[in-house]
Amino acid sequence: MPKRGHRDVQEALYARRIALANLVRSPVLGEGDIRRAVREITETAAQVMEVERASVWRLVEDGAAIECIDLYERSGARHSAGIRIRASDVPRYFEALQRERAIRAHDARTDPRTSEFRSGYLEPLGIVSMLDAPVFLRGKMVGVVCHEHTGSPRRWKLQEELLAGTFADFVALVLETAAWHDAQEALRIERDALESKVDERTRALQESESNLRSLIDLSPVAMVLTRITDHTVVFANRRAGALFEVSLDTIGGKSAPDFWVVPEQRKRYIEDLRKHGRVDDLEAEMRAQSGRTFWARVSAQRLRFAGEDTLLGTIVDITEQKRAQEVLRELATRDPLTGVYNRRHLEQALHQELVRAERHGRPLTVAMLDVDRFKRINDTYGHPTGDEVLREISERCQKTLRSTDLLGRYGGEEFVVIFAETELPDARIVSERLRSAIAERPVVVGDRAIDATVSIGLAAFTSGQDPSLLLERADAALYAAKEGGRNLVRTSGEVDAPNMNRGSG
Ligand code: GH3
Ligand code: MG
Ligand code: MG
Repeated sequence: MPKRGHRDVQEALYARRIALANLVRSPVLGEGDIRRAVREITETAAQVMEVERASVWRLVEDGAAIECIDLYERSGARHSAGIRIRASDVPRYFEALQRERAIRAHDARTDPRTSEFRSGYLEPLGIVSMLDAPVFLRGKMVGVVCHEHTGSPRRWKLQEELLAGTFADFVALVLETAAWHDAQEALRIERDALESKVDERTRALQESESNLRSLIDLSPVAMVLTRITDHTVVFANRRAGALFEVSLDTIGGKSAPDFWVVPEQRKRYIEDLRKHGRVDDLEAEMRAQSGRTFWARVSAQRLRFAGEDTLLGTIVDITEQKRAQEVLRELATRDPLTGVYNRRHLEQALHQELVRAERHGRPLTVAMLDVDRFKRINDTYGHPTGDEVLREISERCQKTLRSTDLLGRYGGEEFVVIFAETELPDARIVSERLRSAIAERPVVVGDRAIDATVSIGLAAFTSGQDPSLLLERADAALYAAKEGGRNLVRTSGEVDAPNMNRGSG
């Protein structure tokens, strides 16, 4: 190093201080770009330390090597980077980096800590002195700042060792800042990924929601989606709007229970849902907005929709079906000629009434009615006229009976009346009216007036009796009425008092 005058030394010191001050203030150090920040450090270090080469290295491969982040050569004002030095090639140097605050090698070629570099590095590059300061981050050596002097050997001053340490601290700061930036970046990427995943999920959900909506809308069956928490309608399809006579823009928010007519039916619906999570083909009466009621077959199923617990209900209008069933059922119970109940229905009804009478100790009386000398009517006027007479007789009976009495055709010209919850005396009064309703005036068929009478046998059921014998007892009473001269009402058990029941005819 050439000898310098006091003034030169002052100026050089001043220049060093400015350079350091500039480095301290440089925004580049805090930006997180290691390469750019380190370039500023190496340039400043080369200038301040008055060395030909200043470089910054980072420990890589888990401490097995160092890699040059930046090397600045002052004479050519050149930057380079990238070469690696392995710990296995220069073990003593690596040991010293771990151990020492700074490696002050006045003559690097002979210093035991740096002599390993001699033939491969120092001599080809003309380096004679080295001042290396390890970079420590949280107590760990993570890199090194190297100052390499060419020309004649140089004695490093203590002050310069401290400066080298300062540069190492700058590097530590840069690495720390970069790590922080990296962490921030990683966090941002992760957050972005998460956000896009959430977006994707939301989109998928929205898509499946809108798929479901259009599916429901296209369905030929009325469908209503209701919220489980408050039983309000979320949305409904066109069919449902038409069925309940509500426009689709106003159906949302309507209270589903308002559609039900019979609270017990809705209660069953809710219970089924609670028990089985679904309802299948429940028949219930429903009410449209206008108040019109109809029969529906309702099914429902729990469903997650738009993040809510909902019920998807299907409603099929079965009013017509019900009416048709009713007509069929009615037809199946009626006698085609007379329109009164047929024998099958009579027997069913009698069985039910007997069970009820037995269980609750209620009275029950039956009448068996047979047209007198009907063969003669047939023979005289012909079978079709006989049919007309049968029709007229059953009509008169029907008109005479009370609404709780049940009339049926038991056989050809035999009828049975079930007097439910009726004691024998009351049944006898009604039977007497029946008898006289037939006898009081002839049956007119076309231009013929035909006299017809009926005989009636009555039997009352009392608890403990064999119910299957009830009709037989009535039939026996009827036989007694025939025996007594016809056009009579007779009661089972009273057959020995023939005159008691004789009618007016
Ligand atoms: P009785 O007073 O003893 O009852 O005399 P009856 O002539 O009515 O005798 P019976 O009850 O034994 O005869 C019933 C007759 O009714 C026999 C049958 O030809 C006739 N008959 C049965 N079913 C029908 C029907 O649907 N239409 C017509 N026209 N006649 C019927
Ligand atoms: Mg008969
Ligand atoms: Mg007869």
